Amino acid sequence: MNKITNAERRAKASHYIEQPQTSIADKISILLAGFQLTDVLSSKSHSEDFNDTRSNFIQGRLKLMVFVFAILVPLSFSIDLVLLEEAQLQSMFYLRIALAVALITLALFIKKNTTPITLKYLLPTGFLLPIIFYVFTQIVFSNQTQEVNIAGYNFMPYLMVAMLALFPLTIIHSLTILTLIFIPFLAVEIFLDQLLTFTTLNKVWAFIMFSGVTLWLQTGQLVMLMKLYRESTLDPLTGLINRRVLMKRLEKEITAQREFYIFIFDLDKFKRINDTYGHLDGDLVLKTMAEVIKNEMRVNDVIARFGGEEFVAVMSGLDKQNALMIAERIRATCQQTTITNKDGIEIKVTTSIGITRHQMKDSLEETFNRADELLYQAKSTGRNKVVYG
Ligand code: GH3
Ligand code: MG
Ligand code: MG
Repeated sequence: MNKITNAERRAKASHYIEQPQTSIADKISILLAGFQLTDVLSSKSHSEDFNDTRSNFIQGRLKLMVFVFAILVPLSFSIDLVLLEEAQLQSMFYLRIALAVALITLALFIKKNTTPITLKYLLPTGFLLPIIFYVFTQIVFSNQTQEVNIAGYNFMPYLMVAMLALFPLTIIHSLTILTLIFIPFLAVEIFLDQLLTFTTLNKVWAFIMFSGVTLWLQTGQLVMLMKLYRESTLDPLTGLINRRVLMKRLEKEITAQREFYIFIFDLDKFKRINDTYGHLDGDLVLKTMAEVIKNEMRVNDVIARFGGEEFVAVMSGLDKQNALMIAERIRATCQQTTITNKDGIEIKVTTSIGITRHQMKDSLEETFNRADELLYQAKSTGRNKVVYG
């Protein structure tokens, strides 16, 4: 095996950072390791792409939830007509209209805004509005004589906690929203001067139980989503991102009008390795080479398994000389690396590399075609070489 340690490779690779760019590639480390508590606690360790996926999912659900709520709130006034005393009917009518209007406005905002804003502000608002409504209803009902008639209204905080379970939130995010629901809920109890009664303690206890179940359901959803995401975006053999994610990433780069270098790696005469040593050893070689290439890259560079024995790397924040130097170093490291199979047989492989720069005027297709042609040139002029164009 190659004698250079991963840390040394990383140190060497990071030497070429001119301007650290975190935008092009995000931390996909979470996708490589098993899930940890930190993965469900906050989204800090989630990749940008996973966050996008999750946020879109949440945005869609929130829109639906708010919309359904906005329709149900005025409709259920018919129940008020049956249950409430004359004195409260008018107040409830106005309260319901106000909530419905606020919810529809919120739904429009959700539709118009980007997902980070939705997650940060609009999602909590979706829970805060019904809770504010609840506070007002409790004020209206505070002089109601028949308490049993308004039981439905008393469910509101629990209903909100239960609805929170619809969203695959991280624990910290969820606790924040639960607190937002809990404070008005508690304020109402204080307002009604019931804070220390047995009934109130019971209600708080119920609230905490519901919250626990919600947190459990949410964490389950989040882990499931992470699992599915991992399976649909990572190549199981090498652990690198797959072609689909790479293309999505590149499209984002192009939308942001950023320039970058594309490296296409293709292992030389790889078919012969399969034919000589078998597919399992072929897989081992692929896995090792993926690691070698990855270790030569900076943390924020994107590296994907593009096809069978082809890898694509995307790097930005470097000049032509650096790009060539990195490619040359990877080529040399591949050549020097010896893979030992389980029978102790040593296998060696080389790689050909095509590099090109994506410029703003190019389409992604043009850039890829150019890189492909350069790779073909490397192949047709002897292999185990880097061609830049
Ligand atoms: P060249 O130097 O021109 O690139 O020759 P090559 O043999 O590498 O190219 P070719 O495209 O003819 O063959 C690629 C081979 O890679 C064929 C296929 O069996 C093998 N391969 C693709 N994916 C895998 C895989 O996941 N595991 C293994 N073991 N082999 C794979
Ligand atoms: Mg090939
Ligand atoms: Mg090949």
